[in-house]
Amino acid sequence: MRIAENLKIIKNEIPEKVKLVAVSKTHSIESILEAYNAGHRIFGENKVQELVQKSEQLPKDIEWHMIGHLQTNKVKYIAPFVSLIHSVDSLKLLQEINKEALKNNRTINVLLEIFIANEETKFGLSQDEAIEILSSNEYKTLKNIKVCGIMGMATYTDNMKTIISEFESLNNFFTLLKTKYFADSVDFKEISMGMSSDFKIAIKCGSTIIRVGSLIFGERDYSK
Ligand SMILES: *Cc1c(COP(=O)(O)O)cnc(C)c1O
Repeated sequence: MRIAENLKIIKNEIPEKVKLVAVSKTHSIESILEAYNAGHRIFGENKVQELVQKSEQLPKDIEWHMIGHLQTNKVKYIAPFVSLIHSVDSLKLLQEINKEALKNNRTINVLLEIFIANEETKFGLSQDEAIEILSSNEYKTLKNIKVCGIMGMATYTDNMKTIISEFESLNNFFTLLKTKYFADSVDFKEISMGMSSDFKIAIKCGSTIIRVGSLIFGERDYSK
């Protein structure tokens, strides 16, 4: 693999202020170490068990991001060390993250995952559901979580117009939330959007965090 080279190419293509999450799901410890030794420190995983196992085997200065669907009963396993959870899709999950953060005597940074694609399989909150959470009294009592922004995934398609309109709608929704609920917050600043196939479009549409897997590590092999 040309992991170090791939990283360099991508980093040269993105503005310095855009964060790159190297999505290492299904890839080996050796592959992650190759990226680590090239200076990369932010990695993303979508399964709790894999995230925990890898974090135990790898250097402690890695920033681990949880990017996949998260079940409430598994929050406790990642609460001690996770840097950012991109995939909050319910108030119940937010409450559980808060509870486990408190137990670990820390604050956990999260993003609300917003449904933008027209594919039905994608997880996430509708805009109304996100607003409902942020206006609720329950949300206001959560002191050990910090909502840092929103995350979304565009429809998997070659149609640029569809992708652009979905990313733009996520950016518009970010602005609305910022104005209505986070006007005084310096923490609410992230829009996590863009993957291997669409990160350049996402950055044009205002992305601050891109999540790139196959372009760095190669194709994933799910048969192993
Ligand atoms: C796998 C995954 C990615 C990265 O996908 P690539 O196409 O390999 O870049 C990004 N975001 C999420 C939520 C993922 O599950």
